[in-house]
Amino acid sequence: MTTHQETAKTPDYDPRSNSSIINFLLSGIDGGYKKGSLICSSDADESPYSKTITLGQFPLYTESVRRGFGVVSILLGLLGIGVIVAAALHQLSLSITIPVAVISILFCILTGAIFIAAPIAQHRYILVELECKKCNGGHTVLYDAITKMKRRRFGCYTKQTCMTLQVSSAERSYEFIDAAFEEMPHRLGPPVPGAYDCKDWADEFYNKIS
Ligand SMILES: [Zn+2]
Repeated sequence: MTTHQETAKTPDYDPRSNSSIINFLLSGIDGGYKKGSLICSSDADESPYSKTITLGQFPLYTESVRRGFGVVSILLGLLGIGVIVAAALHQLSLSITIPVAVISILFCILTGAIFIAAPIAQHRYILVELECKKCNGGHTVLYDAITKMKRRRFGCYTKQTCMTLQVSSAERSYEFIDAAFEEMPHRLGPPVPGAYDCKDWADEFYNKIS
């Protein structure tokens, strides 16, 4: 038997609490987030119920970011080769040219690898459509996890590249869904292959509530 632990509720995600660098990096995975209305009541009698629970994902990088990586990769590769040629022609100091050439060629390989891997990198999320008794309308709640935090936001992703993987019409109270969210891990693993990532997080949450 586990003891009941009183834990603080995860605050609603607020990008203003991030540094501008973090927000810049996150802009690549915003999925075209559009803010929606907050739920009307936290009263249990008037708790909204889920109409649909969707497991979805969208590609992490846009076409322009992929092209940017490709161009940077090619330029750095050429720079590395250029430095070696210049060194040979002008007998430049090898203690400067060799490190510059090695670093730029390695960087070229790295950005090239990211460029190649980018089309398959996806961000996965859960979208819950709620039916609200209080306003006779609907609300949407978006749940996902990024490196250092899990997020609950009222709204949805609007990008055309968003793809539905699974949909459930299970009727769950908002309280049930939110309690399951609180039980979910707070952070993802390191950004290396095989680590606990946004897909594992979203799949786990979907299985809990669908
Ligand atoms: Zn409402």
